[in-house]
Amino acid sequence: GNPVCECNTCYAGSHCSIFSSDCAADADSGDPLFLEPFWMQHASSSAVVVAGWHRMSYSFPDQTSISRELDNHIRRVHTIATNAITDGKYIVFGGGSTQLLNAAVYALSMNLSSPASVVAAVPSYPLYETQTDFFQNKNYEFEGDASLMMNSSYANTNVIEFVTSPNNPDGNLREAVCQGPNVKTIYDHAYYWPHFSAIPAPADEDVMIFTISKLTGHAGSRFGWAIVKDKEVYRNMQLYISVAEMGISRETQLRALQLMKTVLHGNGKEIFDYAFNKMSDRWGKLSQIFSSSERFSLQEIPPLFCNFFEKVRGPSPGYAWVKCEKEEDANCNEVLRAANIIGRAGKKFSVSDRYVRLSLLKGDDDFDLLLNHLKKLVDQEDGAK
Ligand code: PMP
Repeated sequence: GNPVCECNTCYAGSHCSIFSSDCAADADSGDPLFLEPFWMQHASSSAVVVAGWHRMSYSFPDQTSISRELDNHIRRVHTIATNAITDGKYIVFGGGSTQLLNAAVYALSMNLSSPASVVAAVPSYPLYETQTDFFQNKNYEFEGDASLMMNSSYANTNVIEFVTSPNNPDGNLREAVCQGPNVKTIYDHAYYWPHFSAIPAPADEDVMIFTISKLTGHAGSRFGWAIVKDKEVYRNMQLYISVAEMGISRETQLRALQLMKTVLHGNGKEIFDYAFNKMSDRWGKLSQIFSSSERFSLQEIPPLFCNFFEKVRGPSPGYAWVKCEKEEDANCNEVLRAANIIGRAGKKFSVSDRYVRLSLLKGDDDFDLLLNHLKKLVDQEDGAK
C-alpha cells in the first residue's frame, strides 16, 4: 500500500493538501521568514561552501581580510539604503545585535563617577531590561521607563537610554526622551530599513546598532554590527566581544559577506523593493480587516517622506500593535488566543495587557493563517450586533 505520511499539523488528507483551519496562527516571534522567497530566487548567488581546511584560525577583529571586506560591504549597503552615515565611524561586529546591546551599555558605563541608570521608553523591547539585569554589573542598573526619568531630575545621575527606532512593538520612529550632559544614547536601529519604515534621513548618531536578522532575514546566523563614532567606546565594545566571545565566527562573517554581496548586486535596491512591497501589502490586508472592527484597533503610523524611495510612503511595520478597545477585553492576548491566534502580551513590553503584538515578519503560510483567523474574529462582531 501507499506509505502513510504525517502531515504538518496545519494540513490533512492523503496529500497533506487540505488546510485545517483549526491550526493556531502563531504570530508570536519576530522570525523574519518573509524574506525566504527572496533568497530562493537568489539561491546560487547567495550560497556559501567552505572546505574543511579553510579558515581554521581564530577570528581576531580587523585582522582578517573577510572582516575588512565585510565592514566595507556594510558601509555600502547603508549608503544605498540611505539609512545611516558611516563615514569616519568604526564598526564593531557582534553575535547578533543582542550581544552588542550589552557591549554598548558596558562601554558607555565605564569610568563614570556613579552607576548609570539604563532606561527605555515604553512600550519597549524586553531584552534591554532582561540583559541589563542578567549581566549585573556595578556600573549600571536597569531603571525602567525613560518617560518617567524625564519627570525626575537626572542632573546628577548618569543615564543610558535605549532608543528603538522604529520601535518594537509599535513600528514608530522615535527620538531620545532624555537629554543632557549626563545622558548617553544607544540607537537600536534593527528595523531602520526601507522594509519596515520610511527613512526620513540617514541616521548619524554616536552609537547605532543594526542586525542582519532584520535586513536579510538570517536571524539564525547571529550577526549584528554597531556603528560607533568615538574611538574609546569602539575599543571598549571590541574588548567586550573579545572577552565574551574571542571574536565573531568566521563562518558567520563569510555568510554575511556573501549575503551582502547578493544584496549589493545590480543597483543594490532589489531587496528593499521586495521587502517593502511585501510588508506594505501585508499591512494593507491587515488594516483592511481591522477597518471594520470596533473591538480592535491598530497602531497608527503616519505616511512620511522616504529618502530611499524619494517619495512619501505609507506604513510597512514588522509588527501589528493591537489594542482591545472594549472594557471587558482587558486581557487582549486571551481574547486573541480564544480565536486561535498566538500573540505577545502588552505586559512583556512593559505596558497594559490591553495591547498585543502580532508578528508580521513570518512566512506566507503563517501570515495567511493569521489573516484567516483575524477575519473570522472580526466578522463575528457583525453577527453580534
Ligand atoms: N533589537 C530589536 C529591537 C529587536 O527586535 C531584535 C530582535 N527581535 C534585536 C534587537 C535582536 O536581534 P538579533 O540579536 O537577532 O540581531
